[in-house]
Amino acid sequence: MSRLDRSRTERPCPLCGEPLYPWIALPARANDASVGMVLSDEPENERVIERCENCGVAIEAKVEVDLAEEWRVIGGDGERVATPNRSSLQAIFGVEGWAALPVLPGRLLLTSESLALLAERTGMKIGPVRTPLSVEAQGWMWQTLLNGLTFHPNYFREVRAGRLRADNSRSRFGYYADGIVTVLGGALAVLVSVPLELIAVAIKRGGMLESQVEGRAAGATSKPASRA
Ligand SMILES: [Zn+2]
Repeated sequence: MSRLDRSRTERPCPLCGEPLYPWIALPARANDASVGMVLSDEPENERVIERCENCGVAIEAKVEVDLAEEWRVIGGDGERVATPNRSSLQAIFGVEGWAALPVLPGRLLLTSESLALLAERTGMKIGPVRTPLSVEAQGWMWQTLLNGLTFHPNYFREVRAGRLRADNSRSRFGYYADGIVTVLGGALAVLVSVPLELIAVAIKRGGMLESQVEGRAAGATSKPASRA
């Protein structure tokens, strides 16, 4: 990752307007190896994720974002919004190997502060942002720990979903080695990941952000425009 140009980008943060800075690079295809692997030197083979150092939000470079749609996909039309927490302990451990990255509901990688800003920018009011215990976040912590050991990111999830097979894997050796690591390391990862996520929740760094939608903010009169 050291060859990423860390200088500020041309694009302002979609939430607070401060500059975005390159943060991490991911393979262009989700199944490609990333953790512990050197990415190719061809920029078309990777996706650069930029982050705002002011509000903490992150977003893929050159990807447009519709704030109303981002609000809707995290549950903003209902009573509760929930989304993976980019400032969680598991995201800090995992970085590009964080297991929640491929299952984001929208395009924004949110933190407590940027979730509150997203609500504000869409004219909505939310309650306090929490990081409660959840089955999803426990699973992401488990998979994130295993991602540090396997060639293929999210091996268990991808194999179970039928998206990763020996014939479309990075290498047959890597595929079968990952299977052995997942079987042997899976139980141990449970023993470590469960207390880690409990600690993360206790220090408000749990893997899932959640808040109650309290309705429209004072002064906001119309629903935000949405392409949906
Ligand atoms: Zn920002």
